[in-house]
Amino acid sequence: MHKYNPFLTAQSQLDECAAIMNLDSSLHAILRVPKREIHMNIPVKMDDGTIKVFQGFRVQYNDSRGPTKGGIRFHPEETIDTVRALAAWMTWKCSVADIPLGGAKGGVICDPKKMSQGELERLSRSYIQQIWQLIGPEMDVPAPDVYTTPQIMAWMMDEYSKLSGKNQFGVITGKPLALGGSAGREDATARGGLYAVKEASIECGINLKDAKIAIQGFGNAGYYAALLASTIYGCRVVAVSDSKGGIYDQKGLDAQKINDYKSSTGSVVGYPGTQNISNEELLELDVDILIPSALENVITINNASNIKARIIAELANGPTTPEADEILDKKGVHIIPDFLCNSGGVTVSYFEMVQNFYMYYWDEAKVHDNLNRKMTVAYHNVLKTAKEYHINMRKAAYVVAVGRVVEAMKLRGWV
Ligand code: NAD
Repeated sequence: MHKYNPFLTAQSQLDECAAIMNLDSSLHAILRVPKREIHMNIPVKMDDGTIKVFQGFRVQYNDSRGPTKGGIRFHPEETIDTVRALAAWMTWKCSVADIPLGGAKGGVICDPKKMSQGELERLSRSYIQQIWQLIGPEMDVPAPDVYTTPQIMAWMMDEYSKLSGKNQFGVITGKPLALGGSAGREDATARGGLYAVKEASIECGINLKDAKIAIQGFGNAGYYAALLASTIYGCRVVAVSDSKGGIYDQKGLDAQKINDYKSSTGSVVGYPGTQNISNEELLELDVDILIPSALENVITINNASNIKARIIAELANGPTTPEADEILDKKGVHIIPDFLCNSGGVTVSYFEMVQNFYMYYWDEAKVHDNLNRKMTVAYHNVLKTAKEYHINMRKAAYVVAVGRVVEAMKLRGWV
């Protein structure tokens, strides 16, 4: 049972890192649990006139480095332990990316696919009414996540602004562009990951031009990874997939055209001139770089030894199990771990906050430039730590992230 509790996983990852760092036991004890959890019951008037009560959470994990930051998910299977784990991982992600923020996460148990826009708006506003005194641009800044959208962020920002009596665009990120959103947010996760891949390719001696790439998942992260890998770096994306299956063409795929095809048919599968493959086959293709961009736990003890890629760039959260990690480690596969690889998203969310504070907005080129610098530095800090401690990139990312949080806690006199 315990094995599947994501928060226990997050805690055991921290424990492992604490052992490597020889972390003081008081600091370790503080870092194993969230600083604050808000549990709420949210009554919402439904369109048929009845009241339905939804359960919601906000977990603020650690704010030693700055206001906490993390998305809000609307999901029928949301659990407090998932939210706790994600809040912990946000803490490490913001720290490894070296942005001055802590980690948080929120969630509401609901099925947005079965709710009207009006019901979603009332739920979003009520959620903010319950937590507004405990969030804010200088305290805790939510963002979109699974099944929450820029429109939902706009309602939440509006509600918070009304309650606090002034416009407060910086209370939430992932807002629509017309309402204080940042240029470049849409593809930030994939773009940031590719900036790290570029550095990793130099480390591994792979020429990105014409390098073969397979990408699992063709949503926000996977589609933009395919598009940008080919357009910016001239890579050959030979395979992509979605929940229905994958396609392969050794000559390389045109991400834009496949996206258009998927928009009309609902899947990448069947794209003319390509060979259908399964998601499992995609992972084991003879490629230089593998980019899991869909689900967790797809690289496991069962397929790790068949993986041929020399670099795995984890845009998805948690795609590799710990057992698979060990196998890949022994094979010498270079992994860019999830909370480093996909930190481009939160980095541009942070840029959004900065622009909201400034009330001055950057063009896309400036966002890309700043993101590139942040990702490149973050990657090299982790690489340097991996070499220094003789540990793999995942453990090194933890050491860097936890080390910075610990430094802040000590300087603040928390221990
Ligand atoms: P998304 O919903 O836009 O896309 C998910 C894709 O995965 C879809 O193409 C879907 O068809 C595919 N998929 C679903 N089940 C699959 C299966 N069994 N096999 C293969 N593909 C399958 O989601 P996203 O925003 O692209 O997120 C993908 C991953 O990246 C998640 O792990 C998410 O946590 C992570 N991530 C995303 C962001 C971001 O800014 N979008 C930021 C950080 C992390």
